[in-house]
Amino acid sequence: MDLFDKLKELHEEGLNQINKAKDEKTLNDVRVELVGRKGELTKILHSMREVAPENRREVGQKVNELRDLFNAQLDEAKEKIVKAVLAKKLEDEKIDVTLPGREAHLGSKHPINIILDDLESYFIGMGYRVVQGPEIETDHYCFEMMNIPKDHPARDMQATFYIDSEDLLRTQTSGDQARVLEKHDFSKGPLKMVGPGKVYRRDDDDATHSHQFMQMEGLVVDKNITMSDLKGTLEMISKHVFGQDRETRLRPSYFPFTEPSVEMDVSCFNCDGKGCPICKYTGWIEVLGAGMVHPNVLENAGIDSTVYGGFAFGVGLDRFAILKYGIDDIRDFYTNDVRFLEQFRKEER
Ligand SMILES: [Zn+2]
Repeated sequence: MDLFDKLKELHEEGLNQINKAKDEKTLNDVRVELVGRKGELTKILHSMREVAPENRREVGQKVNELRDLFNAQLDEAKEKIVKAVLAKKLEDEKIDVTLPGREAHLGSKHPINIILDDLESYFIGMGYRVVQGPEIETDHYCFEMMNIPKDHPARDMQATFYIDSEDLLRTQTSGDQARVLEKHDFSKGPLKMVGPGKVYRRDDDDATHSHQFMQMEGLVVDKNITMSDLKGTLEMISKHVFGQDRETRLRPSYFPFTEPSVEMDVSCFNCDGKGCPICKYTGWIEVLGAGMVHPNVLENAGIDSTVYGGFAFGVGLDRFAILKYGIDDIRDFYTNDVRFLEQFRKEER
């Protein structure tokens, strides 16, 4: 075939292919086929030696013209395709603003967190600071600093998960007390802190026992702190949590880190002291343990116990939540059943 006929055919066929291409990929294939380095036009240039010398110039000119034409058509086709794709995308993604919105599912606060948040802000309001310590604690801070040396029988009261001979999952948040006591500068004012957090004990889980629970420790140390300061503070806490008309009473108890030690009961909020299953027909419910800080605890932290004294208390947040909301199985706190948790939505503040 004559090279001029070939060019004429390529002209028609090329434009035809450009027009048929409906997406960028096809168009790109057409571009490579027509004007690429190994494309049809290049092939024609390569076969130039078959052309009579007097015609070479004209063939070369025609090839260049055709290349310019193809390139222009290819660019135009590409622009059309891009516009069409965009138009289709806009059409497909059109939002119908008249449709009802999707409901946002808000979670509800965990009952223990409701109690915790409430108590934290209550104590902050009374000038306490909130301290959080490590859940993996050392024997030193968890026990020894709290006047519970190794082989002390009180260690049996707190069956412990040991990690090795020195590290353990804390059985009480008291380690936070020891750390703060060591660092506190009394020239800047009294020490007032609460330390909330998870604690762990080797217990078989049942309705009233759990291997994990939440405690909140409180500590106040200064000059001239007396038992009546402790009593007043505990009364305020119980009235805040269980209601203004609750009666309270203190009973002597024993903790290694306080002397004297007490446990506090509140009058039963269910029967008002007459006796019912919740208070086991005693009219009283035990809510927390407390006492005056043992001199050894102060001395262990380098504080002169003849000058400074204080009180400490420990609140079981699970127990507070159980009493306050009438929960009958402690395991409900940790099994993440949404039906249980959603009941507390109305309690959030
Ligand atoms: Zn009762």
